[in-house]
Amino acid sequence: MVEVRSVHKSFGSLDVLRGIDLDVRAGEVTVVLGPSGSGKSTLLRTINHLEKVDSGSITVDGTLIGYRRENKASARRAFGKGGGGRRAGKLYELRERDVLRQRTRIGFVFQNFNLFPHLTVLDNVVEAPVAALKRPRKDAVAAARKLLARVGLADKTDAYPRQLSGGQQQRVAIARALALEPKLLLFDEPTSALDPELVGEVLDVMQDLAASGTTMIVVTHEIGFAREVADTVVFMDGGVIVEQGPPAEVLDAPRHERTRAFLSRGA
Ligand code: ADP
Ligand code: MG
Repeated sequence: MVEVRSVHKSFGSLDVLRGIDLDVRAGEVTVVLGPSGSGKSTLLRTINHLEKVDSGSITVDGTLIGYRRENKASARRAFGKGGGGRRAGKLYELRERDVLRQRTRIGFVFQNFNLFPHLTVLDNVVEAPVAALKRPRKDAVAAARKLLARVGLADKTDAYPRQLSGGQQQRVAIARALALEPKLLLFDEPTSALDPELVGEVLDVMQDLAASGTTMIVVTHEIGFAREVADTVVFMDGGVIVEQGPPAEVLDAPRHERTRAFLSRGA
């Protein structure tokens, strides 16, 4: 579902991603751990086209996002006929309309929920499928009600975000992401802004999504969630993946000193 190859990304003189290789198979959950500033959010943002890569390539479900080639013909071949190839310096990338189309198929759940404050819970979930997928409003409303029931908020459809707890708001944000029927769901520290007693209800929803075969990449500090739900745990530090593997290896028998230090500090 996701293939990241030799991705480099700098902000000015700061090398934030220094050669990332990552594979995520359909239906699998990848949990990304790492200290603050290690490049976790930037990695998610490149996968969702919110940041451009400087070099390397990212493919999501067979669609190439960014690709560095010196030569136009090879870039055209890599993108396929009509599939992008806008030239920006030496980086060939998807055209803007293809970026937007691709982005609607990737759900992104942020630390701070990012709900529309002036819309009801129901309308927060209905908005995107109507605006981005041109779904008839009636169908979008029916689908939104089902999704809100799935995240345990059937009784909150008419509330406004400010009337909800942080855990409830985050569950609305998850329902909203699901409304676009994404192929891939990205979570960037979805429980970091929550009071401790509200973390569990959000993790439970995420665990339910994982069990139903949703492909997910989750940046989190919740080691328990990683241990229980992840197929693969990735530990990042300083813009590189230090180690990755099944939770039983990375969490319980880390091979690298930096991973050990992080886990002992975090636990
Ligand atoms: P993490 O999510 O692991 O905490 P980030 O990917 O957010 O790390 O950031 C990695 C580094 O890149 C940090 O030093 C951060 O300050 C820097 N950074 C992130 N985004 C930008 C940006 N848009 N401009 C400049 N520096 C940035
Ligand atoms: Mg971050």
